[in-house]
Amino acid sequence: MKVLDTSGILRSDLDFSKNKYIITNSVLSELLDESARVAVEAALKSKSIILAEPREDFLKKVKEAAVKTGDISEMSSTDLDILAVALERNLVVISDDYRVQNVASALGIEFETTIHEGIKHKLKWFKVCEGCGRRYPMESDLCEICGSRLKKRAMRL
Ligand SMILES: [Zn+2]
Repeated sequence: MKVLDTSGILRSDLDFSKNKYIITNSVLSELLDESARVAVEAALKSKSIILAEPREDFLKKVKEAAVKTGDISEMSSTDLDILAVALERNLVVISDDYRVQNVASALGIEFETTIHEGIKHKLKWFKVCEGCGRRYPMESDLCEICGSRLKKRAMRL
């Protein structure tokens, strides 16, 4: 059993029928890529992928480690979620995110990049307004039109 982050799902051609993976709801919500979403939802139904939510006490440990390593300001709540799930269950994390890998190391969590997990795809990350759905580049924080918060999304190129 391994924990997948969004880059782990989108950058690799994982065979969900053979391996068991864990993701969080926050990872699922970052998947804008329609084909990836369909594959993940089918895998959730067949229990090849299991949804888990992070526990507060483990989230706290992950945040403390991310503060120590200096990565916290650049990490999303999804990054923290998957690390908390991996820490609680003593699992390997599959992520291409350097900061996730760095904090994983600090916590003694094993990680793999998607190079070990099949063919790589390039990803496009952007943000989407929670209010009106308008797309923004990653640097933006608030919607210029309606003032709502922006959430991170990813799709394959
Ligand atoms: Zn908006």
